[in-house]
Amino acid sequence: HPIISLQNVGKIFRTDEIETHALSEIQFDIKEGEFISIAGPSGCGKSTLLSILGLLDVPTVGSYRINGESTEDLDLDQRALLRCKSIGFVFQAFNLIGDLSVFENVELPLTYRNDLSREARKRKVETALEKVGMAHRQRHFRGQLSGGQQQRVAVARALVCEPTLLLADEPTGNLDSKNGEAVIQLLNELNEQGTTICMVTHDTRYADLADRVIQLFDGKMVDEQIPMHPMAAN
Ligand code: ADP
Ligand code: ADP
Repeated sequence: HPIISLQNVGKIFRTDEIETHALSEIQFDIKEGEFISIAGPSGCGKSTLLSILGLLDVPTVGSYRINGESTEDLDLDQRALLRCKSIGFVFQAFNLIGDLSVFENVELPLTYRNDLSREARKRKVETALEKVGMAHRQRHFRGQLSGGQQQRVAVARALVCEPTLLLADEPTGNLDSKNGEAVIQLLNELNEQGTTICMVTHDTRYADLADRVIQLFDGKMVDEQIPMHPMAAN
């Protein structure tokens, strides 16, 4: 039973004169515990696909199910609630809030839930920070952390609600190679402990670490065996 299922998903952006087919006939499942990466050249639809997976945008056609629940007919509030409950986001730019401490940044997603006591929230935040090796920096602020440390905290924030799926959009894009490798190593460890991950990356070294690579070209999924150059496909 897949936790994520996309069937025949398409996305068309319409502006005044132009119609862009950003995604066409996207179809794949993600099983619990998998590490998927989405790869392909600039403009191929990676961000659009990640937005759909993250419930930030809706497909023009096709169906998207999370844990068997279909998402097409949700209103904005239901969509936001499902996003909170099911999806953790890690961004290229870390996106920590500068005037909140490390602890408060990680606690933030939990404050939208009113079913947890302060003590229960504290335990969850500490567990998430321990997972990423940042428990000793709880009281620090963004400006006191290196890029690599900020991304570890951002990963803790993404994990604190125990999401069904962790989405990472170019998580190494703002890091030097040493810190980038450390973040990838962290994602690998989290995956080995059971976290399901879907990562967008330009870096083929990192893409190849995944269990499976979804290769996009012009908004379509291409078989990894088929050469990328359109002329070479004949
Ligand atoms: P990638 O992340 O792989 O660079 P995107 O998903 O950002 O690709 O873009 C896929 C295609 O959809 C591109 O042609 C892009 O210009 C277009 N596109 C993305 N977002 C919008 C939008 N909001 N309005 C119009 N066109 C868009
Ligand atoms: P990385 O090494 O992960 O690429 P940087 O070294 O570029 O990250 O650090 C990002 C920012 O944080 C820089 O402005 C840097 O001066 C600052 N910084 C890093 N470590 C500390 C620290 N221990 N205390 C205060 N500021 C720090």
